[in-house]
Amino acid sequence: MEPRSAPLSDLATPVISLVVPMLNEAEMVPIIVERLTQVLEDIGEAFEVIFVNDGSTDETAPLLDAAHAADDRVKILHLSRNFGKELALTAGFDFAKGEAVIAIDADLQDPPELIKTFVDHWREGYDVVYGQRHDRSTDTAIKRTTANMFYSVMARLSRVNIPASAGDFRLMDRKVVDALRRLRERNRFMKGLFAWVGYRQMAVPYARPPRAAGTTKFNYWRLWNFALDGITSQSTAPLRVAMYFGLFTALVAVIYAIVLMFRTVLYGVDVPGYASTMVAVLFLGGVQLIVLGVIGEYLGRIFEETKHRPLYLVSDAKGFDQTTAP
Ligand code: UDP
Ligand code: MG
Repeated sequence: MEPRSAPLSDLATPVISLVVPMLNEAEMVPIIVERLTQVLEDIGEAFEVIFVNDGSTDETAPLLDAAHAADDRVKILHLSRNFGKELALTAGFDFAKGEAVIAIDADLQDPPELIKTFVDHWREGYDVVYGQRHDRSTDTAIKRTTANMFYSVMARLSRVNIPASAGDFRLMDRKVVDALRRLRERNRFMKGLFAWVGYRQMAVPYARPPRAAGTTKFNYWRLWNFALDGITSQSTAPLRVAMYFGLFTALVAVIYAIVLMFRTVLYGVDVPGYASTMVAVLFLGGVQLIVLGVIGEYLGRIFEETKHRPLYLVSDAKGFDQTTAP
């Protein structure tokens, strides 16, 4: 692999862009601004830190504006409401100017010290360098088990390979960001999109510490929906389930019909079977409803995509040349 030649660094064009999505992280703002600028200054390249305020309702917005006023390498995108972490990241990627773009959480669960390692591997020639949690001991047992189940289902259903325990914490070369920006689907399952674009990828293992402050924005219901989004956005295999259900019930029905025929011929007509009729009706009705639900899930997604709405709206952009994404 060819090592990357160092790009010309002047202050106007950042070499490294950091994108930090934020929803109600007021207590984290001063800490993270300080930590990130420190780490980036040590690396010694021109940089920008883009905080995407994803519709926070606490003091996050004024605190971010103050951080921008104090240091113009700190740039702020205020979204018009809460759009979710995926879209907040997308907004950040759209506005980022750097040759390398790094996505990082605001709660210090993605250790900023790793950024140096990411940049080093990028210099070696890797296009994507992502953090991989080798130790999830700070997560609850349920969260770990369900996460493992999710990754194994995904691995079976999807053609692209989604690395297990890799989150959004990653560095991407400019060409990868540009590729990612061409994927404008509404249903943004980032892990799937990251895997879909491909390029030379490299994993950096790390231990994920607990949140430094504040609370998680993802409860189990949200994670369950996230998993469903992940599967239905990457795979149409659930649609095929209908066919297997149909084949299976048809087979059972044929066998049952043969049994009934022989019984009638050998033993004559016996009392009409209420129970077996009910079972057949209820089972088939249930299967049909489930399958309709699966079809509806995909139909809903088609509906969402055909509206062609913008993915997010920026209410205020601080520190950028223009207020709409280039
Ligand atoms: N976040 C966001 N919008 C949302 C939810 C979360 O921008 O709707 C941000 C949040 O501020 C944090 C990051 O996404 O910087 C990860 O969220 P969190 O730590 O709550 O997720 P967890 O680490 O528990 O998966
Ligand atoms: Mg977190």
